[in-house]
Formats: sequence, structure tokens, C-alpha cells
Amino acid sequence: MLESVLIANRGEIARRIMRTARRLGVRTIAVFSEADRHLPFVREADEAVLIGPADARESYLVPEKILRAARETSAAAIHPGYGFLSENAEFAQAVQDAGLIWIGPPPSAIRAMGLKDAAKSLMLQAGVPITPGYMGEDNTPDRLRAEADAIGYPVLIKAVAGGGGKGMRRVEQSADFLDALGACQREARAAFGQDRVLLEKYINAPRHIEVQVFGDSFGSVVHLFERDCSLQRRHQKVIEEAPAPGMDPHTRRTLCDAAVRAARAVGYVGAGTVEFIADASEGLDASRIWFMEMNTRLQVEHPVTEAITGQDLVEWQFRIASGETLPLRQEDLTIDGWAMEARLYAENPSTGFLPSTGRLMHVSLPGGIRIDAGVEQGDEVTPFYDPMIAKLIAHAPTRDAAAIRLAHACAGVEIWPVQTNAAFLARTAADADFIAARIDTGFIARKAGTLVPSPEPSVRVLEAAARALLPPPSSDPWVSLAGFRLGAEPCATMFVRVGNAHYRTDVSPDASHATTIDTGDGNILFLDGQAWEIGIPVAGNAAGESAASGTIVAPMPGQILGVHVAPGEAVTKGQLLLVIGAMKMELRLDAPFDGIVTEVSAAPNTQVAEGTILARVEMKAQIT
Ligand code: ADP
Ligand code: ADP
Ligand code: MG
Repeated sequence: MLESVLIANRGEIARRIMRTARRLGVRTIAVFSEADRHLPFVREADEAVLIGPADARESYLVPEKILRAARETSAAAIHPGYGFLSENAEFAQAVQDAGLIWIGPPPSAIRAMGLKDAAKSLMLQAGVPITPGYMGEDNTPDRLRAEADAIGYPVLIKAVAGGGGKGMRRVEQSADFLDALGACQREARAAFGQDRVLLEKYINAPRHIEVQVFGDSFGSVVHLFERDCSLQRRHQKVIEEAPAPGMDPHTRRTLCDAAVRAARAVGYVGAGTVEFIADASEGLDASRIWFMEMNTRLQVEHPVTEAITGQDLVEWQFRIASGETLPLRQEDLTIDGWAMEARLYAENPSTGFLPSTGRLMHVSLPGGIRIDAGVEQGDEVTPFYDPMIAKLIAHAPTRDAAAIRLAHACAGVEIWPVQTNAAFLARTAADADFIAARIDTGFIARKAGTLVPSPEPSVRVLEAAARALLPPPSSDPWVSLAGFRLGAEPCATMFVRVGNAHYRTDVSPDASHATTIDTGDGNILFLDGQAWEIGIPVAGNAAGESAASGTIVAPMPGQILGVHVAPGEAVTKGQLLLVIGAMKMELRLDAPFDGIVTEVSAAPNTQVAEGTILARVEMKAQIT
């Protein structure tokens, strides 16, 4: 086994690789940028080397800096993770030239698969079916449009150097072709430094199916079955699963054999993924599945394969890089159950998935499933890198059970104040069409209306907020509340504040039980993967505004049980002013800010109607 490994990456994948390294007794070396100084992967490594500023082009993407860090720490090997330099053949070569072990395929294999057009030509020769289209030398606009016309629309223009879902344009008709080509080439030049493109027939009801392969340096290649990554948003994977639903044994064998052939054709060593696109309009069939590209690295979604095969793919990478043979033969590999992974991102689905950065004041992730996280409570999500917070990986005996487990886990995510896609993921995993495996790459775009949660609180949220804001005085109030309802009296209502708005809601004994936290600056309610700032409304002082005066009104009809302040008294934010009781429950009314009590109109043991003014607090600055 290797003595030590330097991980030329960050975040969750750096931690993931270190976990296995530690178990195998391999010394770990992290490299980090100034922006990542305080992240877990830096402190968890045996050694960590600062390699430059936040901008990846001056740190994680600079081969010399990484090689220097490797020299300084006497690293034996370099693991590139995914993204960054992982598919950079020159870097792989430089690592080997420096006398280090490169935990990845030979540079020649990376190069052979690096450009999509060359890779497809190679695959064609190796007898692997490729996506129909044009991948010729002639890239003049007129020739490309003529080829697109011949292929028939819709057509996909792809940058040959593209990756990460970038540099791709779908074109619906000939008249739009040249504009789309220009836009695609501009994007490709900016992102990949070259603008060559190829054309592909846009596949009907496309499903993204990929095969995990492994080769060793003795020429053996095996596959670890397929993953389905059809749930995508803008060509980027959102939820991945293994195995692929609806895959019959014959189609699986044909597909996996093709992937092994693809890997053999380039002398593959280590972990790789062969990506295929399937026309699933009539189910999965080997005759309608074509090679798309090969990713010559460990994939983000590798944990679903680990779950169903019971193998540690990073351990496999380490063993193969150490010169060992493949840990298992093909016939020893089997599929156990079903696994699904969701990518939890710091982004706001209701603003079109804009990234949401900032400090993670509160993080609570569900237990009972595998979670690969790059950050923890107290860490910061910065704008410099991919805003992934964690991957949630559910494994169960059946697909239905895995989906339910995943949905449940996503709904249990509690993060504040950074916005996340947790609620969106929970809805997606619980969606009836998803459960029925009626999926293709257009699924999310088609169903965005139901999958993207509303930024407005639902009745469920409001009732949960009321329940959270009405703490029981002693015995279980929900028992008495239930009795109250059975007594056929009208159900109580109250006002609650959610964000900046006030809502009237039923006080329901059936309300969902949600977690709430007190941030010291307000209460946050977590329900179904969403976070809501809640409170008792204060007239004239919506949250976030710096109103000078706070009028404390009765949020519900009830009895004044206690008056804890007198006019003229100075109070601090959150200090108890009054207690109002209703239905054997007590509600505390607190000072909305530091100030002076200017009026107390409530008298103890009197009955007040909802909306009655009980007291007024004015901000200190206004008085003195
Ligand atoms: P996977 O199938 O492993 O999810 P992706 O294509 O989504 O692969 O890429 C994995 C990571 O690498 C992502 O963080 C993505 O942004 C990044 N990435 C992939 N290819 C490129 C590229 N050519 N340039 C920049 N980043 C890339
Ligand atoms: P990248 O290098 O960015 O990962 P890919 O070639 O793997 O690019 O394609 C990314 C995604 O775009 C696929 O997962 C699939 O959803 C979609 N896609 C690619 N090619 C086609 C095609 N010919 N027809 C329909 N969808 C496609
Ligand atoms: Mg791809």
C-alpha cells in the first residue's frame, strides 16, 4: 500500500478520499486555498499546505503549486478527486515525471477520451455504438448546418472539450442553428479554451446511463454495473441511482460489456465511467443505447455503486495505484438492493437556483443514511467553488424503499441561514412519477412547477408555526386541544409572523411537529427541508425593519395571565413582557428589540380579543 497521498482537491471529495486513506493507514496531505483555510478537510488531514488564493486558477488548478506541495511533504501519490485537474493529461504526466504515483488512468487514456469527437471515433473502431451525429474535421458554420439539417432536428451542438454540462446547445430548427452555434462556441472558448464542436442527434426521452469500470495495470478490466443519472437540471446531475430502473439482464450485459470494451480500447487503469445516452421512449433496450463520453476519474456519484456492490471504490483506486490486481473478479461482483444519491446544494430553488452563500449558522443532517459532506455547522459556503454542501446516499432492498428513505432524509435537512435545495430534492424523490420510474433528462424541467417549493408558507407551515409558538405550560396541551375540538367549539386561530409577513392560522392539534431553533435573533422552523423564520407578530414592526415602535397585540383571543413590565421600564430584546393564555396554553410575548415600555394597557386576569393592543415598546434611541 502507498505510504502517503496528497489530495489535489477540496470539500467533500477530499474528505471522502481521506476517510479511506486513514483506514488503510495511508498518510494524508491536503492542499487548500485561502478561502478554504477553516474547512474540515484541512484540519482532518495529517498535513495541509496552503497553495494560494481563493480563485482556483491560482490554487487548485495550478500544477506547479500542487507538485511543490507534494515535494515539500514527501507525498508518495496524488489523488485528483473530480473536477479541477482530474482529467488533465499534462498534469497526470507531470505527476509521473516527478516520480510520484498518479491515482488515475495513464495520461494516454485521459488524452484519448479527453475530446468527445476523438473519443467517439475511437469507440466506433472498438465496436461500441456511438450517439448518431457528425464529428468531422470540417467545422465551418455552413458545413455544420448542412450536417445538422441532414441529422434532423432537434440537434445537440457539443463542445468537444466540454464538461460539467457546459458548452451544449439544443437546436430546434435549421433557422436557429447559426445563432446557437455562435453562442455554444463563445461559451466553449471561455470555459475550455477551444471552440471545436460536434453534432449529435438529440435523443428522444433521453436517459443518462453510465457504467462504472475499473482496470488494473495487468490488463484486467471489470465493470461495477450501471448508474442512472437521468434526473438532471441543465445537463447537470441532481439525483443518481444504481442500478438503472427497467434494466433487463440482457441489456445490462450488453451495455456493461461495451463499457469494458471502451476501457480496454484505451488501456484503461483505475476508476472510470463510460457514459451512455438511451432513447427510453419504449423502455431500455441495447439497440437504443449509445456511447456519449468517458469520464476518466472517480465520479461524484460513485457512492451509489459502493452501496449496491459493498465495495470501497477509493480503496480499489489505492490498491490498483499500488500495483495490486483488481480486488475482485467480474463473477464475484453482484448487485445488492438499490441506492440513490441526492446532491444537496447551497442554492435557492425559488430564485431559479441561484447559489446562496454565507456562514452555516445551523446544520443538522439526518441520521441513518450515508452522508458525504464537505462542510459542517459554523463553516462558510463561499462563492468560489461548486456550492455543494453534501451528498445524501440512501440504500435499501428495493427502489421504492430507497426513494422513500432518500425523500425522508432530504426533508429532514435543517440548514440556516443559507438556502438549500433540500425541499426540492425531497419533493423530487417523493414524486409519484419518479417513484414509478417514469424518468428522463427532461423530468425536472417538465415538473419544475410541482418540484420547486413555494417561497410562501403553506397551511402546514403556518399550523406548525402556531404549534411551535404556543408552548405547553405543563401537561400535554395537544390532549386538551383535542378535547377542545371534540367539544365542538370553534377551532382557535392566531396570528403568526413568517419572515416579514403576518398570517392568520388555525391552531390545530393535528399540526405537523417541526423542529425549531432559537438563534438568539429569532426562531427558525424547519419543515420538509425548508427553513422559516417565525415569530409572534408585533404591529408596526415587521421583522427586518428597524421600526421605532413596537405595538404588542394579542395574537389570539385569551386571558392575560401575567404582566411582567410597567410603563417607563427599560427592556432588552427577547425580555418577557406579558403572558397570554388560551386553551390551557401559555404564549409569551417578548420585547421585539431593546427599548422602553411606553404603555401597558393589559390588566392581569382580563379577557382580551384577538388584535387588542396590550403594550407598546419604543426603541431606546428614539427616547434618549
Ligand atoms: P459527474 O458525472 O462526476 O457528476 P460532472 O460532469 O458533473 O461529473 O463533473 C464533476 C465535477 O467536475 C463538477 O464539480 C463539475 O463542475 C466539474 N467539472 C467537470 N468537467 C469540468 C470541466 N471541463 N471544467 C470545469 N469543471 C468541470
Ligand atoms: P458533459 O461532458 O458536460 O458531462 P455529456 O456529453 O456527458 O457532457 O452530456 C451531458 C448531458 O447532456 C447528458 O447527461 C444528457 O442529459 C445530455 N445529452 C448529451 N448528449 C445528448 C443527446 N445526444 N441527446 C439528448 N441529450 C443529451
Ligand atoms: Mg458527461
